[in-house]
Amino acid sequence: MDFKSVIRDIPDFPQAGIIFRDITPLLAHSQGLSSIIKAFQAKFAEISIDNIDYIIGIESRGFILGAPLAMALGCGFVPVRKPKKLPSAVFRVEYALEYGTDTLEIHQDAIAAGKRVIIIDDVIATGGTAAATAKLVEQTGAELVAYGFLIELDFLNGRKSLPNVPIISLASY
Ligand code: IMP
Repeated sequence: MDFKSVIRDIPDFPQAGIIFRDITPLLAHSQGLSSIIKAFQAKFAEISIDNIDYIIGIESRGFILGAPLAMALGCGFVPVRKPKKLPSAVFRVEYALEYGTDTLEIHQDAIAAGKRVIIIDDVIATGGTAAATAKLVEQTGAELVAYGFLIELDFLNGRKSLPNVPIISLASY
């Protein structure tokens, strides 16, 4: 499937000058999710990434893509959430935005040390969210094996901010 032909561009959202890549039409397409998951599986297999214990999905569109990928790979799914959503003890990371800061959390007991994980999100823009999630994974003692994104905004060079592991994306702008 040509993902970009089904992803919708919304100019000036959430603020003037930004083109928001809206994946909701792709999710609504009858073959959309299955094509995304098959494409992720094929790309990870191509670079011999296997024996994954957990997919880490970043709230909230990372949940939509990460959960079916975990099913397809036969592994677990662990959510990384915005503050005050997770009920048990958490590791927390605060990271800088253009204006202000944001926070992400993961359950402290979600992943045992040494487990092999892939971080999944819909979009990598500046890379701040994905880099912060790697810091959470590091706190659990798990091994970050790869990143997977549906969309990569190349011109922002977000991958430069990420740890040195394979990074795959299915559509780039
Ligand atoms: P970053 O931290 O700058 O890399 O931004 C990535 C986060 O912002 C991801 O969690 C995305 O869901 C969200 N995001 C940034 N740009 C877009 C977009 O154009 N469409 C959808 N989500 C976006």
